[in-house]
Amino acid sequence: MNFPADYHIHTWMCQHATGKPVEYAAAAARLGLREIGFSDHSPMARDDFDNWRMRLDQLDEYVEDVREARRRHPELSIRLALEIDYLPGFEDWIRGLARRHPWDYLIGSVHYITDTWDVDNPAKKAQWQGRDPLEVWTLYFERLTRAAASGLFDIIGHPDLPKKFGIYPSTSYTHLYRPFLAAAREHKLAIDVNTAGLRKECREIYPGPEFLKMAWEQGLPITFGSDAHAPGEVGANFAEAITLVRGAGYTHYCRFEERRRHLEPI
Ligand code: ZN
Ligand code: FE
Ligand code: FE
Ligand code: ZN
Repeated sequence: MNFPADYHIHTWMCQHATGKPVEYAAAAARLGLREIGFSDHSPMARDDFDNWRMRLDQLDEYVEDVREARRRHPELSIRLALEIDYLPGFEDWIRGLARRHPWDYLIGSVHYITDTWDVDNPAKKAQWQGRDPLEVWTLYFERLTRAAASGLFDIIGHPDLPKKFGIYPSTSYTHLYRPFLAAAREHKLAIDVNTAGLRKECREIYPGPEFLKMAWEQGLPITFGSDAHAPGEVGANFAEAITLVRGAGYTHYCRFEERRRHLEPI
């Protein structure tokens, strides 16, 4: 099978993944991938913001490690990127990160639905108890819409992340997608089709089939991501992801180079 590029890959540096870029690149080459991109969790201004990202003083080393992987694996196209947390008020910080290195793309993700609750954090799963799932999902999609409207990103990461633990609103919620999809269309964003959801309690790719169909109707392009946190996860479940996106109508995905987007047949 001819795999599309895997654009969502982490490294040991974020404190909850294993392996250096060269090891992920070796795994990708073994699978026959032709292109990958590293998108590790970006640093925050304060290193004690949380415990699941690289420190600010590691950012240059991260970039150097990705360049080392390029040198050791010339048979692969290796993109340099970050997965950046979007929180309201952090726009200037993100703009500063964007200027530091020649990124090929930036993935904007919402994990924090309040200033202190990273909604996908297993250590904070208890915070779901006693809350209306629709309220949590609504907070998430309001922030995701702001992330899209910020114009800071190229790709939006795992766009229905609140389903991670399999906790869904009891009433219809697809209306929450619409303002986000409109903002994503206006700002020419791609959607990260992210197979990590298959490895979580929800057992479903992010985003799900209905979301993806709505994204296709809006003309939003896609990228593919394993969200690998270990070299063995590179390209994980890409056959399922291809089946999913074809079912929604997609015939192309996109690649990025120096933040310019190119369409590629799937
Ligand atoms: Zn992670
Ligand atoms: Fe993420
Ligand atoms: Fe990620
Ligand atoms: Zn992720």
